[in-house]
Amino acid sequence: MLYHSTNLKAEPVNFGAALLKGLAEDGGLFMPERYPTFTAAELENLRALDYPGVAFEVLHKFLADELPADDLRRLVNDAYDFPVPLEAVENAPGRHVMRLDQGPTASFKDFAARMMGRLMQHFLGKEGRRLLILTATSGDTGSAIANAFYGLDNIQVVVLFPTTEVTARQRKQMTTLGRNIRVLSLDGKFDDCQALVKLAFNDRELDPLQLSSANSINIGRLLPQAVYYFHAWAKLTKPGEEIVFSVPSGNFGDLMGGLIAKKMGLPVRRFVVATNENDEFPLYWENGEYHVIAPSRNCISSAMNVGHPSNVARLIAMYGGVMDEKGRIHKPADLDAIRRDMYAVSVTDAQTEATIRDAWRDHRLLLEPHGAVAWAGLSRYAAAQLAEAEGRTCVSVETAHPAKFPEKIIELLGFDPALPPSLAGLDDKPEHVAPLDNDYPAFKAMLQERYGS
Ligand SMILES: *Cc1c(COP(=O)(O)O)cnc(C)c1O
Repeated sequence: MLYHSTNLKAEPVNFGAALLKGLAEDGGLFMPERYPTFTAAELENLRALDYPGVAFEVLHKFLADELPADDLRRLVNDAYDFPVPLEAVENAPGRHVMRLDQGPTASFKDFAARMMGRLMQHFLGKEGRRLLILTATSGDTGSAIANAFYGLDNIQVVVLFPTTEVTARQRKQMTTLGRNIRVLSLDGKFDDCQALVKLAFNDRELDPLQLSSANSINIGRLLPQAVYYFHAWAKLTKPGEEIVFSVPSGNFGDLMGGLIAKKMGLPVRRFVVATNENDEFPLYWENGEYHVIAPSRNCISSAMNVGHPSNVARLIAMYGGVMDEKGRIHKPADLDAIRRDMYAVSVTDAQTEATIRDAWRDHRLLLEPHGAVAWAGLSRYAAAQLAEAEGRTCVSVETAHPAKFPEKIIELLGFDPALPPSLAGLDDKPEHVAPLDNDYPAFKAMLQERYGS
């Protein structure tokens, strides 16, 4: 099983190589050359499995020739040790919310990051290699990466964050770990952190340290995001029933996971692609023209403020087209098929806030801004496609825990949501954090001294 680049100019490689490389040599993103499929009987067998069991069946289809079954079984059991609730929505027959917020950082990014970390550890170990993950964060990505790689053997992690731009809760999600996670607090801005990291990546004298970015476009983060669609279908549908998912989308990795699941034979009638005011994809879906939004628009669903989602190139490739990194389409995709499989909507901040209020008032459904974009998108789809949506199982994806947005929830609903167990207790743990000057030579010397031998 090989993975080729969306730019079609690099040699295809196997999964282990694609995972450790991240980006293809021609700057494109790795895509599987084909999609292994489930038979109807295999799909039925998923109904009896727990989440790690479903994860094993889905990932084994891709990894069978590179990762022994026993090893994969151990990795999925280790990565997915938290619940994946499917909540039936009151006063809304057939509607469910899938909560992907029970992992260590209470964000759906845990699903991808935890599996990618474990897969990297496995493939590095086979080659006797080690990695130093270097990442700059304005809050959420750093904590998901730090938590996902915490305690792994041949991987060290260094996270840089701007001292005054990160909330106390976000900081503690990184600094209370210790062990292989080193957290540096920079007296500067996020851009300064990112600049130091970039200089390090481009510094050939640091090659011996085996730097890697654990980037969000890594194929090792994408495949695990197909799994929860199988989980929801298996738990909620009757045999043969086609389901609808509404996916709050920023960089379109979550959606790509769903599209991969459909390619593998999962009976999905439609994906509602719900964006915030960064509406480049809904406009493309409507009129066939794609325009990058730069700079991206600032919305309250901040993790979705992406004006040119990198995974759109993958989506276009899956539908037979070619799009480069700048968002230029060199070969058109099959837009009719895209419109059959997806329904794209853009949701404004005002609509997002109204949705959080209405969902609570009408359904006792507690949503944070990202999940509210998905729920609003689902309502709009169901109103426009009445016959298709009527009586059908529809799942709206919630990607973060409402307690991560206490100010918004208090403002709109008048109460402070209870912390999930993963975030509770952070206040009492000791923090490990070192100050860092905005000084590249000093940063480089520190990296060489600590990780050089
Ligand atoms: C990253 C993120 C998203 C967007 O997911 P993509 O895969 O980038 O489309 C949505 N919600 C939350 C809470 C996120 O952290």
